Amino acid sequence: MIAVQHFGSISGGKDSQAVLCKMVERIERKGLEAFGNTPPRFLSADNGHENPITLDHIAYLDDWLRQRVGLRIETVSANDVPGLTDAAAFARKRAMLREEWSKEKRRTRHKGACNQRRAAWQAGAITRAEWTAQCDCPVLVSPPVPDHLIEQAIALLHPSGIPFLDMVMLHGRFPGTKTRFCTDETKLVPIMHRKRPLLDAGVSVIDWIGERADESPARAKKPPIQSTRHPSGARQVLYRPIFRWSAADAFAISARHGLKHNPLYTMGMSRVGCSTCIMVKKRELRAWAMRFPAEVNRVREWERLVSLVSRRSAVAGTPASLLPAPTVPGDPADHGRATIDRAIAWSRTSRGGRNYGLFLDQEQREADEHGLRCDSEYGLCE
Ligand code: SF4
Repeated sequence: MIAVQHFGSISGGKDSQAVLCKMVERIERKGLEAFGNTPPRFLSADNGHENPITLDHIAYLDDWLRQRVGLRIETVSANDVPGLTDAAAFARKRAMLREEWSKEKRRTRHKGACNQRRAAWQAGAITRAEWTAQCDCPVLVSPPVPDHLIEQAIALLHPSGIPFLDMVMLHGRFPGTKTRFCTDETKLVPIMHRKRPLLDAGVSVIDWIGERADESPARAKKPPIQSTRHPSGARQVLYRPIFRWSAADAFAISARHGLKHNPLYTMGMSRVGCSTCIMVKKRELRAWAMRFPAEVNRVREWERLVSLVSRRSAVAGTPASLLPAPTVPGDPADHGRATIDRAIAWSRTSRGGRNYGLFLDQEQREADEHGLRCDSEYGLCE
């Protein structure tokens, strides 16, 4: 039996590509001995919300990897994980929705000092009774949902085969900045699903991760190597081989191997995962909307579908929104949310909200005429 299995996670971005190059270099320099005599495995999670250009780029990397060292990139999906986005998960959701939407819903909106007492209760400083005894916060009452809206929602709750869409339909909402279940459920869980049988069998796993300290203060606090012990006794090691690298270093190693980088970097995107990510920057949102109208249409349709399985949106007749309120200034009458169309309109305004249409029209014309004009945040064409 093998004692250790190395994994590389491939996202289609420059950092995971740099790690891929490092692993290939190591195989070529030291042979498989450097990986415990077992070929490393490369995993890529496809959640159905990826930019098609990123999927093409991963296929290109897969081809390069096969030609270079005879290995392949395995695609994983939430659909592979029993109970996550399958028919059983939807059957549970339908039963739960029918029961819950048929009843009145009461929710207390805690405010100010009451929130502080709740935090004290959560921290164990006071009892729950002590917290709630002083609570006089307003209680929001939602009457039972009309039958035709329940039936409409239930009719939609069946797997589409698209993991990201199925996940949000099951949650009845899109992820938010504080509840970022998209990363966990459509990426981390399916990747872990491939590793767990090894860990359960006592095989240690070493994950090569493309995280760099200069990406964010939170990342900078992480150690370059982290190790935890699995109940079977196997170790799960997170190894960040490019932790001290700059973005330029990450691009440079690909250049050394004659590898193209993801074309999205030259289209004004700093991140190349979901199309589009819920944490998208204003400038990137504008570029994405301009270059990928079909993707905008897809997201608009998803917002329509999700609104019909969200209790609040279905009753109010308001659309759901992919982008969470803190990302985009939304509609104060609708919990601060902004639909994709509203968000795109906002992305086409200057800081004070003034529309700078002339400039944008010219930008669009240039994109139409010249196609892939380099708009890289990383100065890739300089
Ligand atoms: S890239 Fe953005 S939208 Fe996609 S899984 Fe990660 S946080 Fe969620």
